[in-house]
Amino acid sequence: MKIFKQYQYYSKEQIESKANEVLRIMEVNNYPPKWPFEASRAADALGIMIDWQSIPPDTQGSIVAKILPLQRKIVLNELIPKLSGGFVESTIAHEIGHWILHVNQDEADGLTEQLELNLGLEDVTRYFLCRTVDTKTSQINMNSQLENIEWQAQFFASCLLMPLHILETTRKGRDLTNWKHLYAIQEELGVTISNLIYRLQSLGWISIPKGSKQIYLGKAAPNGQTNLFDR
Ligand SMILES: [Zn+2]
Repeated sequence: MKIFKQYQYYSKEQIESKANEVLRIMEVNNYPPKWPFEASRAADALGIMIDWQSIPPDTQGSIVAKILPLQRKIVLNELIPKLSGGFVESTIAHEIGHWILHVNQDEADGLTEQLELNLGLEDVTRYFLCRTVDTKTSQINMNSQLENIEWQAQFFASCLLMPLHILETTRKGRDLTNWKHLYAIQEELGVTISNLIYRLQSLGWISIPKGSKQIYLGKAAPNGQTNLFDR
């Protein structure tokens, strides 16, 4: 058994239902979710610690956060100045996504005792580094397992932060094609505007043609490049 599961495909529906499970665990463990969403409450409900540390960049660039499954700990990088507000929430939610989708939890729990004897023991098989957890990661072309894994964690985060029933309530009386309204929703939910746009687009509620600021309702913008069969 390994700390990280072997790569597996998850459908969007599967990921969404895993995120909903975490929301239920929050209810049961007395950390009921509320909005603006505080992802640290989800971590509390799951018994995961959150810590801020300096994580210096490595040869591949800067690192936003990491998860240490054996220590049940998410480490956020205090060296990243823009890691604040909604970006913190989505980063924590993203790391929780790794915990739920990619960590072999029985193995992590079983090895905790061993780890206590060996504190500081860390190698590449025992933690997970996340370089960027903004929309760029969400829209990556999925040509490698690592990118898929990052996409899965980010999609999980968007489902956890913005569950369907909350979005349905929040959109009432609002015009999703109006940026001002979107910014109001963003603030209400405690997410970044790019998190919100990504979620609404992946639900097919809005579309924004590449390079444009114009928002259209529904999946395909007029003359847009969205797949016609996807309507
Ligand atoms: Zn990640």
